[in-house]
Amino acid sequence: MIPLARYGERIAKAARTAASEGVDALLIGVGADLEYLAGYAAMPLERLTMLVLLAGGPAWLVVPRLEVEPARACPGVVGGYAEVVTWDEIDDPYVLAGSLAALPASGARVGVSHTLWALHLLGLQRALPRAAFELATRVTRQLRMRKDADEIALLRQAAEAADRVVGQVARGRLVGRTEADVAREVRERLLAEGHEQAQFAIVGSGPNSASPHHGASERVIQAGEPIVLDIGGTLGGYHSDMTRTMWVTGGDAALGPDEAFRHLFGILQSAQAAASAAVRPGLACEAVDAIARDRIAAEGYGPNFFHRTGHGIGLEVHEEPYLVAGNAEPLDIGYAFSVEPGIYLEGRYGARIEDIVVCGSDGPIILNVASRDLWVVDG
Ligand code: ZN
Ligand code: ZN
Repeated sequence: MIPLARYGERIAKAARTAASEGVDALLIGVGADLEYLAGYAAMPLERLTMLVLLAGGPAWLVVPRLEVEPARACPGVVGGYAEVVTWDEIDDPYVLAGSLAALPASGARVGVSHTLWALHLLGLQRALPRAAFELATRVTRQLRMRKDADEIALLRQAAEAADRVVGQVARGRLVGRTEADVAREVRERLLAEGHEQAQFAIVGSGPNSASPHHGASERVIQAGEPIVLDIGGTLGGYHSDMTRTMWVTGGDAALGPDEAFRHLFGILQSAQAAASAAVRPGLACEAVDAIARDRIAAEGYGPNFFHRTGHGIGLEVHEEPYLVAGNAEPLDIGYAFSVEPGIYLEGRYGARIEDIVVCGSDGPIILNVASRDLWVVDG
């Protein structure tokens, strides 16, 4: 639970940061930035909803008249940190938002949130023809990357709930069921464990385990093959996202993991553990990626690990910072992200291990508690 006063602190800090970055106004549409600043999770629609925030100054929440009630109930407005301004069906909301922004005649810089629809951005560009538009992310990332104790508590609750779901699924029947059926079970269990939204359930069985963003198909799970289970949703607005790799035997000991898979998994497990263990303030994001990648490459599997090692997580399932080569951004206290290397042998099988890790003051805080071993299950 995020206390009401926190939204006032966030809006004030965003206004100060905009001023120090030379951005004259922030125009924040529906999405994670709006949820972060005002606690307002509106539906993204063709009618404009937008937080207008002046550098160092006041904030308004521009909303269609028919949504004034939910807008007035959001923490940013209840706390008195933003004032609601409504527009009627025949008004031009872009002119209204532009007039609130009261920009200097020329050279004004306007930051728009990255989830703002093109429809709205084009409307704003018509209303503010002399303004230079850029992403508000320059400002909001500085606030959102560093999670406070309340945000970390929500990420931990979400992570532990996802851990329980993987445990429950592993104890049940898997062989003979379709991936899609298991994915449905995952979604139901995520909700039962306190998530308000079950966002995704990747169930990659057999050769599908070699496809990192597989989804879940009508393929029937067989005994004697691996399953990559990558699941997540939101709890209190904050995301879970975790992956464990299983091997289903169907109760037949002769159908356990082959030596090649055990070998591959051992390399992956040591790479994932080493990358997580290295996390500390000041370490570059790309260094975490390199630690996992170098270990995997040293064993000859470099080409089989073809995605970044991790992504930031919070109000969005993928957000900054990204743990990828080329990102020299140093980690800092409170940064939360996934550490999720994988090894994929196309057409055969693959494995991935994913945890959510927070950068603590002197090392990693790993939020997921479920075993990172290969889960050999009867299924
Ligand atoms: Zn994942
Ligand atoms: Zn992930």
